[in-house]
Amino acid sequence: MAENAIVVCTWSAGREGLPEGAEEILHIGRGLAGALDKDLNWLVLGPLSPGASALAGQYGVAHLQQIQDPKLDPAGSDACVEAIAAYWAEHNPGTLIVHQTGEARVVAPRVAGRLGKAVVMNGISIEAVDSNYQITASAYGGDTRVIYEVGAGSVLSFIANAAVPEPGDGAPVTAESLAFDRVEERVQVVERATFDGPRLDDAEIIVSGGRGLGSADNYKLIEELAAALGGLPGASRPIVDDGWVDSSHQVGLTGRITRANLYIAVGISGASQHMAGCSAAGTIVAINRDADAAIFQYARYGIQGDALKILPELIRAAGAR
Ligand SMILES: Cc1cc2nc3c(=O)[nH]c(=O)nc-3n(C[C@H](O)[C@H](O)[C@H](O)COP(=O)(O)OP(=O)(O)OC[C@H]3O[C@@H](n4cnc5c(N)ncnc54)[C@H](O)[C@@H]3O)c2cc1C
Repeated sequence: MAENAIVVCTWSAGREGLPEGAEEILHIGRGLAGALDKDLNWLVLGPLSPGASALAGQYGVAHLQQIQDPKLDPAGSDACVEAIAAYWAEHNPGTLIVHQTGEARVVAPRVAGRLGKAVVMNGISIEAVDSNYQITASAYGGDTRVIYEVGAGSVLSFIANAAVPEPGDGAPVTAESLAFDRVEERVQVVERATFDGPRLDDAEIIVSGGRGLGSADNYKLIEELAAALGGLPGASRPIVDDGWVDSSHQVGLTGRITRANLYIAVGISGASQHMAGCSAAGTIVAINRDADAAIFQYARYGIQGDALKILPELIRAAGAR
């Protein structure tokens, strides 16, 4: 199929402000569209956030298109699938890319099923190779990376974190009209939990502590280093289970999926379930006294030694800067 555009699709899912990950996915879309000399379109399902038009301009979006309907405010997964499928039936533009939010995990595979397309989840980066795409994706709970090759016109979901906007004028919005009478939402959100803990998902710098800290008291060293670096404190699951910190700090498969630029793992072994929550980090630094700890395989920088001796030094050095 000849594709004429890369389409980034977002929806608000009831949150305030720009959709989660909008900048990150526009960044990926712009890179791909630029490499292939195609249009980058942004399809917004439901309300358009203030700032969307300016953001579209910054990422070189050729067409900012909006589908408005009460069923998309907030957008449930059935309505999203229906809207994207109807948009594709009308325009058949090409490759669809989404940022892998909790909702996108449900929507992307269903859209691919509806449209009869290939789908790749957990994407980290993408390259165009001839008329196909090679996507590097995280697999087995972050344990490994795999490269998929799929044709143009696929559905691709990314967990990557880079976002580099450039100055640009706001983009005009085009309204798409679609009939939603047949859509019956089968999944109802009954409650959105308010979240008081650290916003690990958005943090640029995270310092996480694990069982190697030895005791709950020592977790304050993690908090101090995180504060000195302007970041947030995270944790592995065992220390959450043991009550050293509350679960809002937990990074991993069953905790927060983070995309920090800098992730410092202290006294953490590097189990795949933990790495699932931090392997998308730009740079991982590991502090561990065991030279054979798995975390060193993921880390760009490693410090082998006793965390309780190294942390005070790092706090002092960070404070002195
Ligand atoms: C279904 C499932 C889901 C899971 N989800 C998660 C999840 O979301 N997040 C998560 O983190 N885990 C999760 N786990 C648990 C995971 O498998 C690991 O058990 C856990 O990540 C290990 O935590 P840890 O690295 O802190 O502890 P350990 O594995 O005990 O590692 C402690 C590390 O500290 C080092 N160390 C000890 N003393 C020092 C010292 N003084 N200085 C420096 N280093 C020291 C040791 O060498 C060791 O490498 C999950 C498990 C399952 C089965």
